[in-house]
Amino acid sequence: MRAEHGDSFSRWKPGPRLVGLGRGLLDLILPPRAFDGEPALTPGLSAGAWSRIVFLDGPVCDGCGAPFPFDQGEPLCALCLARPRVFARARAACLYDEHSRDLVLKLKHADRTDLSGLFARWISRAAPDLLEDAQAVVPVPMHPARLLRRRYNQAAEIARPLARAAGRPYLADALVRKRDTASQGGRSADGRRRNVAAAFVVPDRRRARIEGKRVLLVDDVLTTGATAEGCARALLAAGASAVDLTVVARVTEMRSRPI
Ligand SMILES: [Zn+2]
Repeated sequence: MRAEHGDSFSRWKPGPRLVGLGRGLLDLILPPRAFDGEPALTPGLSAGAWSRIVFLDGPVCDGCGAPFPFDQGEPLCALCLARPRVFARARAACLYDEHSRDLVLKLKHADRTDLSGLFARWISRAAPDLLEDAQAVVPVPMHPARLLRRRYNQAAEIARPLARAAGRPYLADALVRKRDTASQGGRSADGRRRNVAAAFVVPDRRRARIEGKRVLLVDDVLTTGATAEGCARALLAAGASAVDLTVVARVTEMRSRPI
């Protein structure tokens, strides 16, 4: 886990050779204009906002992407050991905290679909092995009524450029959300899990694209994991060989209680 601080970054002046070597990597994280010294990297977002994002590029749990404080030599965290997830592996690009929340909500509610390419690049960096193994990339779907109101599904906005950049088949409608489970306030984690368990389905006409495939499921945020597990269950029921999960941001700890 690493916090990048804008102050030291802006004071640091790389030599020309270092710029050449580091630029490819930094372009994955920051828009190219970061090198131009502009205070605002994209409209409405300051360099400080980007610099406070905590990227999960250290050791993480293979099962849920939780950051480990140090490399503990075990692939799974205590929570995954106690209750294996329905998805096989998970990776998050950054921590879901007060800084990344602003960015994620901008994509979700403020029509900032220009952020989706950046999020896709973050995920490419956090989950290269999951992308390598993916035979299909599927976004967590939005209920049609909600999609009508919002006009776009933020998970699909991230999944599409992610699949394109990795050269993997993108299946926009492999999963259908039959029930709007987005507003689950007041329910217990078990209640949420039951509520989403039957909310997702793979339509019959899409089964052939899923059968026998290792699927990479994409969402914006991972909190309790109930939604992702509902989706993974539906994909496995349709014959997927395994389901991996990748998200832009995840909470520090996926607790089995309402958060
Ligand atoms: Zn875990």
